[in-house]
This record gives sequence, structure tokens and C-alpha cells, in this order.
Amino acid sequence: MRRIEERNVVRKDWRKVRLKVALCYPGDYRSGMSGLALQTLYGIFNSSEDVLAERFFNGFQRSLETGRQLKEFDVIAFTLQFEEQYPTFLRMLLECGINPRRSSRKGPLVIGGGPCATANPAILSDFFDLIVLGELEPIFEKLCSFLIGAKNQHDLEVLAGERGFFLPGISESGERAFAQNLDDVPHVVRQVVTERCPPEQTPIFGKSLMVEACRGCPQSCRFCLISHISFPFRYRKSSTLLKIAKRGLEETGVRKVTLIGSGTSFVPGIEKVVAELAASGIQVSIPSILPNTLLHGSLAKDLASSGLRTVTLAPEAGCALRFRAGKRVSDGEFIDAASACKEAGMKKMKLYFMVGLPSESEKDLKDSLELSQRMASKGPSRLSISLNAFIPKPFTPFQWAQTPDPKVVTLRYSYMRKEFMRKGWPFSGSGVRRIVAQSALSLGGADVGDALLRSIEFGADWVSAVSKYYKVPIGEVNSHISQSDISRALSSYMEFLKEASAASVF
Ligand code: SF4
Repeated sequence: MRRIEERNVVRKDWRKVRLKVALCYPGDYRSGMSGLALQTLYGIFNSSEDVLAERFFNGFQRSLETGRQLKEFDVIAFTLQFEEQYPTFLRMLLECGINPRRSSRKGPLVIGGGPCATANPAILSDFFDLIVLGELEPIFEKLCSFLIGAKNQHDLEVLAGERGFFLPGISESGERAFAQNLDDVPHVVRQVVTERCPPEQTPIFGKSLMVEACRGCPQSCRFCLISHISFPFRYRKSSTLLKIAKRGLEETGVRKVTLIGSGTSFVPGIEKVVAELAASGIQVSIPSILPNTLLHGSLAKDLASSGLRTVTLAPEAGCALRFRAGKRVSDGEFIDAASACKEAGMKKMKLYFMVGLPSESEKDLKDSLELSQRMASKGPSRLSISLNAFIPKPFTPFQWAQTPDPKVVTLRYSYMRKEFMRKGWPFSGSGVRRIVAQSALSLGGADVGDALLRSIEFGADWVSAVSKYYKVPIGEVNSHISQSDISRALSSYMEFLKEASAASVF
């Protein structure tokens, strides 16, 4: 790999700290550096005088900062953003000579966190010494105070009953930790900026400051992991966001701000933030936006005038199914938003659709196609489509729902792909080959984790190995999620059953 050059890298003196953390991202440099999670963890760990953190990505056997090996650190910390990273997480340990099985491991402690680990720690329970449930900030100091000097999992045992900590093999269940008020949560402003790297490793947002506007999303769509795992919806005030942006732009020297947060559309004053940044000549991007937000005031115009050329919208499905899935946004709003973006001067529009949502019928597929056609006729001229198969996620209302048979989903996916491609729209998507395996990784227990590791150790096909464990709903697995934490999801699922039955789709 060609050399990567970065600004704001932290290199601490190893002799002057008490805790050395290998911060591991089970994916490539590009995807790791395109998200705020790794930047935030890097900032938090390195903000403590007693602690240093250095980064590892898939394919890196030595840290980016000082070229040290995983084994030299006290703690190996993985952030898991989605389930398909589990095979990579296990391979990264094996390639560095570290036994993924906790019971046989000697050497550094291995800890994990992130949305997937929080939503279903069960599948990872043979591997980690400790899993952080929820957000790190509220428990960071306590975590570090116990990690300093800890030699094995027993040294952490006292954390087992505490909110935010799950000790596999010791904890029965756990509850998420989350910050009450985001305005009180420090935001990493001295972010690492990639100055030079091989083109295929360039971060998705380019040279951009990432500013976290909110956590969670009040829309709480029934399939959406991030809105349920980050409940309740919390946001930063517009004045706080502008202060963070100002300091971050000074620290990084970039001229672009990406506003991060699944519920950014619901952040009061977000239009003001965009307008002020755009007026100062800063390019602004909002990767997750609902159509009604684009219809507020001059937001679409301000985004376009700041230099944004592409809008991304996610109807997911036709109107009736979209509403049953909990996304209460009408077709009219999607069409009007497409039109507003075109008028504002945007040139490209990317639409996200899904197949296989619970209660989906063939009529729903036709509704999706019709909506895409109507948006194409009103919106920016260059349209592209992303089509993904629905994967049931733990912690969400749809974890209990019966999904269409994988064979049916395969047929429906092929039909939709053919129809979209017939219109000449560039098409991308995850395909369906892995839906069974992904569902097993999403909802499975320790038996699936064990099958996954064995397939990797023997060089076998992990997709076939874990597919045998496909079972929906998750009720059959002890996922270790506390019942109080998922009661909201259960009542939303009951509502869905009523709505689906009223619509005569069951
Ligand atoms: S609107 Fe988007 S981010 Fe919000 S809950 Fe629905 S899918 Fe998730």
C-alpha cells in the first residue's frame, strides 16, 4: 500500500502513558476514516493524559501512528458498525497471532462496542472480554480507570452490573449508557485529515470536517437499528454546532462540513447552520436528510449554493408499505423535495429502496417503481438507484416480524433490478446472496459466532457456515438485551401488526 499522509495525527510517548489502546476498525482505511465513530474514539482516548490510542485497519498489521504490532498494546478495542464486519474482526485478530476465543487467549484485553455490539452482544460473547453497550462518553473515565493495570477479564468483573458494560460470561444482561444532553458532550474538533493516500482509499466525504448534529431519530422507523439503539433522540443546539464547526475548520484547515446524524432533519435550526456556513463559503453536506426538511425555507438552495451537487433520498418503498414500516413521509413530499433540489441547481439524485420488508406485496413493488419514475421526472436529471434487501435487526420492532421467504426476496430483487436498469438508471445494491447469512449474523447467538470463527479458521466459506443458523424471529436467542430496553420496540411491533391487519396484508 502506498503511503498515507495525514494531518492531526497523535503520536504520544509510550513511556509516559499508563494505558495503550489499539483502536481497530474492521474495514479498510477509506470506510473507517469516512465515519465519525473512529474519529470520536481516537479523540476521546487520546484526550486523556494517561492513555494513548493508535489506529489499525483491515490489512494493517502495524499501527498507522508508530508501526507497533497489536500484541504490544494493553487493550485491543474494536468498533463494530455493521454485522458483515464480524468476519474481518476475527481475521484481524488471527492474522496478528491473537486468539479470538476469550477462554484461550493470553495477552491484551479485547474489548468492543458500536451499534451492532450493543444491539446483540450474544453473537460476540465468546470473543470479547468486555463490550461497551451504548455510548462511550458517559462511562469513559470509569472504563479507563479499570483498564489501567487490568491483566484479564477478572480484573474488570466489578463492572458487570453497571450500565454501559457487558462482560460476556459474567453479565446476564446489560443496559445501554447514553449521554443525556449532547451540548455537554465534548466534540472532537481536531480531526485527522487525509492529505494524501491511494485514490481508492480516499474517505467518502473527501477533506471534510464531520460535525455530529444529533444522535437517534424521532421517526423511529421499524426497521432502523440506529434510531432504536440511540433512543432517545438528542441534538446539539444550532449555536453549539456553529461553534464546533468554527473550531473544527480552524483545526483541520478544510473548507467542507458534513453534518452527521440519522435524525439531522429534526434538529431545530439546522437550516440556520447550513445558511451561515454556506454564507461563509463553506461547502455543506447532509448525508441523511428527509424530504420535508428540504422544503423548509431556503435549505435546498443553501446546500446547492454551498457547492452540493447530489441529493440522497430514501423512500425505501411505496407509500403504503413505507408508512407500515414507520416512515411517515408521503410520496408527495418526496416528489416535491426532488423538484426543490432540481430548482436549487442540484444535478444528481440518488434514491434508496428496499425489498423484503415485512408485509411487502407485489403491489408495494409496483408503488416503488411508480414513485421512482415520478421523482425522476421532477428531480435532478441524473438519477441513480441503490436497492438493498431488508435484514431484520435486533433491538428494532421488525426483529420479531416474519420476513418474506429468501427465495421470494431473491425473485423480487431481480425483478426490481431489471425494472430500474430498463430505465437506464445506474444501479447499485447489496444483492441477495448474503441475506440469509446477514440475518443470521444480525439475530444470532454465540452458536453463530462459533460457526463463523470455525469457518474462518478452516478457510471455509463463512456465508454458508452461518446461513445454517438462520432463524427469525430473534425470540429464540438469548441476546442479553434487557427487556426494559426493548419494550418500546415491542409495542411498535404490536402497532405494526394492527396496521398490517387493517390494510389486509396478513
Ligand atoms: S428516518 Fe431514517 S434515520 Fe430516521 S428512523 Fe427512519 S430510517 Fe432511521
